[in-house]
Amino acid sequence: MINDTFYDIAIIGGGISSCVFASTHIKNGFNGRIAIIENGRNLGGRASTRVSFSNSGWQLNHGSPNFNISNISNNRLLKTFIQELLDSKIIQLDLSDIIELDGESIENKKINSYFYSGQNYISNTSMSDLSQKIISHNNLRNQVDYFFQTLIVKLDYENNSWILTSKNGCIFKTKFLICSSNLILHRRSLDILKINQIPLRKAIPTNHDKKVDLILNLLDEQEYIQRLTFLIYTKSNYCYKDNYKKKFRHILLNNLLEKKFKFERIIFQKQIKDQLGIVLHTKNIEFINEYFQCNNKEIFKNKLLEKFNQIFDKNQYINKLIDYQDISIMIWNASQPSGLGIPENLQVCENLNLAFCGDWFAFKGFGRIEGAILSGLKLSQKINLL
Ligand SMILES: Cc1cc2nc3c(=O)[nH]c(=O)nc-3n(C[C@H](O)[C@H](O)[C@H](O)COP(=O)(O)OP(=O)(O)OC[C@H]3O[C@@H](n4cnc5c(N)ncnc54)[C@H](O)[C@@H]3O)c2cc1C
Repeated sequence: MINDTFYDIAIIGGGISSCVFASTHIKNGFNGRIAIIENGRNLGGRASTRVSFSNSGWQLNHGSPNFNISNISNNRLLKTFIQELLDSKIIQLDLSDIIELDGESIENKKINSYFYSGQNYISNTSMSDLSQKIISHNNLRNQVDYFFQTLIVKLDYENNSWILTSKNGCIFKTKFLICSSNLILHRRSLDILKINQIPLRKAIPTNHDKKVDLILNLLDEQEYIQRLTFLIYTKSNYCYKDNYKKKFRHILLNNLLEKKFKFERIIFQKQIKDQLGIVLHTKNIEFINEYFQCNNKEIFKNKLLEKFNQIFDKNQYINKLIDYQDISIMIWNASQPSGLGIPENLQVCENLNLAFCGDWFAFKGFGRIEGAILSGLKLSQKINLL
């Protein structure tokens, strides 16, 4: 199917960086048409919420549960943006309990995780809604068209415009292309998309554009942290030991405990009717491999529960988990970029009507929502100067 609209801007990916860019660009006076083309069923990307079909009514933030801004004071752009989200009640300060367990299972008040430094914020609704609300806030004249469950697998650059082809055969044409994910720029696309050349490389051959060559070379050195999140839908009688009322409670494991139990953090998420959802995060490769190699996932789930109960054996807030309604698993093969961030001066390829945003750039907050937001804000500024 060929989409008849010739877009002024098409953005591949509907994560937070893309939504921040689209919203800010409209706010900054852009009045053309924007297409957001997203592989998933919703906006949000890695900062999104699982709405379960089999456990109706449950909403669990299964990627990033909240976000922190560690560098607001000397960054006017970010400060203004965050204040706007606070004023329009899209986000609020996250005042949830954040508890780090140390080797003795005693709570440690000093949190060392880079996910919680500075000020923590939370969506007033869900993480998926956060991205949607960021756009809706400024998209008052409906300039944005959304295409979900649409995976772009091929790019062509002809006559100064871009042609995007999706796996399901949709074709989009646009004057300006923004890639918010680097999947189609990175060698991991070869395996994931089952193709034999990185799509951007195929569209722009070597020695055609210095910036594209540089980005592709640098990205070749960028690695990704794999994570699994286990989503536990508890039974209705499961509750805290104390009278904790807030929606979220974050329990972090210090390095020693993370090594021992293989979990990074455990996030409790209160549902409507007060049921407790529990999201266990792991980035322990041994444990992840064990999960993939285990033929009987029920046995694996029992092991998960065993570990959970050991962690909270003597804990004053958290009860043991005897049984559950359901456990589902989310596999994040590229949960965060690691190692090298792409330099900010490569964000726009002026000669090709091409630009990029996302947490994979070397902004403060690289690999986190802070970096993703900043990349979207900065990109709008840069495009306005073209
Ligand atoms: C389990 C987990 C926990 C995390 N915890 C935290 C945390 O506590 N704090 C924090 O700040 N950050 C955290 N992060 C990282 C944070 O989620 C990311 O930094 C941020 O969401 C990145 O946003 P983005 O817009 O750059 O990319 P993404 O959210 O990845 O958005 C890119 C989008 O592009 C889509 N896409 C990719 N390729 C294509 C294609 N070819 N066609 C169509 N669509 C495509 C993807 O589906 C995706 O939705 C966590 C991430 C994970 C996975």
